[in-house]
Amino acid sequence: MNTTLKAKKVEDLPYVKGMLKKVNLSDFSYESKAKTDEAVAKTNNGKFNNEQVANVSKNIDFRLSGLKQYINQAADNNFYLKVTADLSNDAIVQGSIKILAENLDIYVPVEKLLPKSSAEMEAEGSNDMQFVIEEQESGYSLSLCGDYNPSDARYYSSIYSTNPTDCHDHGTSCGIYQDREWWNNYAYNYYAELCHNDCADLVSQALSYGGLPEDGTWYATKYTSTRSLTWVNTGYLKNYMTGNDYWRTTTYSSATEGAVMYTASNHVVMIAQNDTITHQYNGHTNDRYRANFSDSPSFVYYKLW
Ligand SMILES: [Zn+2]
Repeated sequence: MNTTLKAKKVEDLPYVKGMLKKVNLSDFSYESKAKTDEAVAKTNNGKFNNEQVANVSKNIDFRLSGLKQYINQAADNNFYLKVTADLSNDAIVQGSIKILAENLDIYVPVEKLLPKSSAEMEAEGSNDMQFVIEEQESGYSLSLCGDYNPSDARYYSSIYSTNPTDCHDHGTSCGIYQDREWWNNYAYNYYAELCHNDCADLVSQALSYGGLPEDGTWYATKYTSTRSLTWVNTGYLKNYMTGNDYWRTTTYSSATEGAVMYTASNHVVMIAQNDTITHQYNGHTNDRYRANFSDSPSFVYYKLW
């Protein structure tokens, strides 16, 4: 599909309405930083210091500036559907047709991928804003990944992802959808040991491109096939990133472009879009470009800012 938001400005999005209501702002002007600061300061009965107020305001500005890019912007929105039906005497049994949608590495009824109601999205915005306020109350600093540019990371994961219908190495026999000719083979030579399992490798490359600093534990040597275990192994990657406070757990609704997510089977992908209504990811194993997904209790989201 190719979809465009109905909202003509970010304040029309139910999610943003919920966010702004939480801090008693009915609208938002990019020029009125003082007004935002004043409203934020009041939300916590004046208990926030100046730095905390600035951090909450920065968070609001970050989210709304990020959303602005999606207004009046048509974008590809890819779904993978599986249709099943029972057969009787070579005929389809009426009422037995089921349409399932791929949701990362699980299948869900296709209805699960429809947008949530306005009320639900407004509640998401309100809850996420509450989370930002509580994060400041607990003294969270926003500066840990100061050099990380989520848009750059998203860009990288987008240009090296595609939507193949079979496997480059094994055709249809392995059941994996992978086209490694599309990968960044120039800078990161193919790492044969990984075979299909390139999901952490892609996410690491994108994080590095986005500005996250490599070190003696998390690294890849460019123009060779050398990668550290922490770079290519999903479990090691998660332990390293959370252990160094680069990643913080977040919600489905506040995981925006450049954030990462894990499934229950330890598959990792990068968020490509979250305009509050449409959520997409890029990934390898299976290779996926701007694939739609919905929340699941088995998914875990991490943000880097
Ligand atoms: Zn294969």
